[in-house]
Amino acid sequence: MEYRYVFGPVPSRRLGQSLGISPIPPKTCNYSCVYCQLGRTKTFTNTRQMFFPPEDIFAEVKDALNKYTDVDFITFVGEGEPTLYLGIGEVIRMIKDYSPLPLSVITNGALLYDKDVRRDLKPVSVLMPTFDAPDEDTWRRINRPHRDLKFEKVIDGLFAMRQEMEGEMWLEVMLVKGINDEEDTLYRMKEVIDRLKPQRVYINVPIRPPAEKWVEMPDKETLERATQILGAIPLGSMEEGTFYVAGDNPVEGILRIIKRHPMREEQIRKVAECKGWDVEKLLEDLASRDDVEIVPAHGTYFYRYKVWRI
Ligand code: SF4
Repeated sequence: MEYRYVFGPVPSRRLGQSLGISPIPPKTCNYSCVYCQLGRTKTFTNTRQMFFPPEDIFAEVKDALNKYTDVDFITFVGEGEPTLYLGIGEVIRMIKDYSPLPLSVITNGALLYDKDVRRDLKPVSVLMPTFDAPDEDTWRRINRPHRDLKFEKVIDGLFAMRQEMEGEMWLEVMLVKGINDEEDTLYRMKEVIDRLKPQRVYINVPIRPPAEKWVEMPDKETLERATQILGAIPLGSMEEGTFYVAGDNPVEGILRIIKRHPMREEQIRKVAECKGWDVEKLLEDLASRDDVEIVPAHGTYFYRYKVWRI
């Protein structure tokens, strides 16, 4: 079966081997974060839609679960904001009825003010919402939200979800130098975190090429201080494992991953060596494609699917 919505399993720094589900069209989001690894938002919307039939997504998940035995988590993530998919609740229910594996959703959390979204997400084991800003001005600068979104409502939604959900909430804070890494901002974020009481807080930094070239990581001391203030776990210190690439077609295999998740050159090399593929030929083939771009960042090269940059 050729997969359209399911990818991986990919190694996740928090979830082990994670089978990904991308339930929305490329780069469809209600934020256009300055640090987004997928580039600027292409379809900017705050309206939930039934982009694809839930049964089609579930059929792929079922097939993949029968094929891969090393999956630790099933994760909704992908090419934008997964809660914009109107069928997410139905797919979650179908998977829960079929598999005992834990389910997680990586979300920007912007739609949690909508009680239907909260109902859809209620049964997941782990919800990973973004929390980058303690005030409206910082939020607008870093997340660049859709005009229909209101900061107060987004924060209220986060609190309502925390009250209603059955599983755990792991908050993710992305720190960008000069935007949300000052002590005063961090202490105000900490106040919100203390009231919200998520089970975990992770700090992330833009390690993959960001949407805006000027985005920089905070320096090491600032990151350590932020980790202390927020009582967080730094994601940057956690290593990504090895990617699982299905099938015997090298280019198709890598494309399936980089459509959702840019890969570093050394990760592609590792996969190719494990599969016994010709590494140099694979890199050449990828470089010659119009839909793949190679972006230098952090002393290496990232291979990324080009549609994200349109
Ligand atoms: S980082 Fe996530 S929330 Fe932000 S623009 Fe990218 S896909 Fe949307």
